[in-house]
Amino acid sequence: MSNRERFVGLRRSLTPRERAALYAAQDGLCGCGCAAPLSDIEGVIAEHTIPVMLGNRDKPDSLWRKPCADAKTKLDLARIAKAKRQARETGQQARRARGTTKAIPAKRNPWPPKGARKIASRPFPRKPRIDTSETDD
Ligand SMILES: [Zn+2]
Repeated sequence: MSNRERFVGLRRSLTPRERAALYAAQDGLCGCGCAAPLSDIEGVIAEHTIPVMLGNRDKPDSLWRKPCADAKTKLDLARIAKAKRQARETGQQARRARGTTKAIPAKRNPWPPKGARKIASRPFPRKPRIDTSETDD
């Protein structure tokens, strides 16, 4: 089962009335604490403070400016990935638990065993010497 299938129906959205209530409760400011006003030009995102992927089953609980929401999403993805690794759903420990890893075979030593090695020698005959010391004339 993929994560999309697992979380189908769990991501709930706000009604326009709930969204307006959140906007009023935050005085029209970003929910992250940066104190910037929410604007439709930047975009307004209804955020789950605790991500749905980390078990939040409620509706979004604050309105964030899109730049702030994007930064939070980036951090959330890292946290979600870590949670999956720790739950051994992904990563090396998960692969080991599944038994789908194979040991890396040891590299074979291409050399003959010690003592059986031939001492390197000249692979071609020595050039015959021309003797110039003896002359007949
Ligand atoms: Zn903000």
